[in-house]
Amino acid sequence: MARIDLNNLAHSYLAKPKSDADYALRKTDHVWEDGRAYALLGPSGCGKTTLLNIISGLLQPSEGKVLFDGKDVSALPPQERNIAQVFQFPVIYDTMSVFDNLAFPLRNRKIPPAEVQTRVKEVAEMLELVDVLDKRAANLSADAKQKISLGRGLVRSDVAAILFDEPLTVIDPHLKLMLRRKLKQIHARFKLTMVYVTHDQLEALTFADQVVVMNEGRVLQIGTPQDLFENPQHTFVGYFIGSPGMNFLPCTMQNGSACLGEIRIPIGKETEQLQGNFELGIRPEFLVLHNNPLPETYKVTVKEIEDLGNCQIVRVQLAEHTLKVKVPEGQEVPAEYGFLEFPPEWIRLYADGNLIERGVQKQPQLEPVQ
Ligand code: ADP
Ligand code: MG
Repeated sequence: MARIDLNNLAHSYLAKPKSDADYALRKTDHVWEDGRAYALLGPSGCGKTTLLNIISGLLQPSEGKVLFDGKDVSALPPQERNIAQVFQFPVIYDTMSVFDNLAFPLRNRKIPPAEVQTRVKEVAEMLELVDVLDKRAANLSADAKQKISLGRGLVRSDVAAILFDEPLTVIDPHLKLMLRRKLKQIHARFKLTMVYVTHDQLEALTFADQVVVMNEGRVLQIGTPQDLFENPQHTFVGYFIGSPGMNFLPCTMQNGSACLGEIRIPIGKETEQLQGNFELGIRPEFLVLHNNPLPETYKVTVKEIEDLGNCQIVRVQLAEHTLKVKVPEGQEVPAEYGFLEFPPEWIRLYADGNLIERGVQKQPQLEPVQ
């Protein structure tokens, strides 16, 4: 397994890129630690596959370098990078048996037959393919074929990293959950460096210990699910992670308070020197909706209540702004007007989309999302 360094990496599919918008991957400079499980999360078209294919060597970056354990592999083809890659759709040999498909990456590297037997059996057991080992791959369902693809990715124990590009897309939802859990167990057991591409936040947050959030060719934040939830470094991360996403209100700052028209929300002494235009961000989970006025609460109109069973999402209006509040199940929601509390420790400020650091803030401990 290897540590992966991305050194000033950038890629454009155009021969002569002119502006940032011409880059599928904008300048990226990161270290991905050995043995960790990373999820690469972002909407379709944001550059996830581009980045993954640069790491595996399927694509030559137009700028920058890729290092494995400090060694520059930028010029090496995929087969010399010692990487396993699993794609969105099954890549298998239809005419071979399931066993031979799984054995292929090992035999290819002249692994002794006894070891091939052991590894294939181990992987087949993990993926529940034991019963079909003798069958021809051609006759199997799409799910089973994708499991074989996963197995081919997992069968070698000596790879530098395993890259998965939305591998569960064609898998049915029940099996998806099972396979995701399996991959997580495999990671815990073998401590492989894994990079898992997905556009599904639930998948990313449950699989990975580090989530890399991308948008429009840029890596916006790398962090634990809890980091992304509590301290989104960018408004996109706040909006993309969480269900529903973070609320954002345009405001100006004056004397440590966020001003939204006539409304003044005190944030804290450390923001006294801030002036100008910002966005106030707060998660629906951290807003508190009261039935009666209390100090530092703001009168809101209740617009809509959506009962999700284990909680309620309440849409409220504060002056001309709409916010979503997550209210615990069973709590009575006022029919017409409520009083909204903004706990200052959970307020985040953004300028041009980027989080304003406010120094060390004491935060209550909270379970991460999902
Ligand atoms: P994702 O995997 O996040 O959906 P991709 O890395 O596939 O995103 O694509 C990023 C951007 O690069 C998109 O705008 C896409 O249209 C473009 N792109 C991807 N592959 C090619 C290619 N072979 N030639 C030209 N443009 C491409
Ligand atoms: Mg893709």
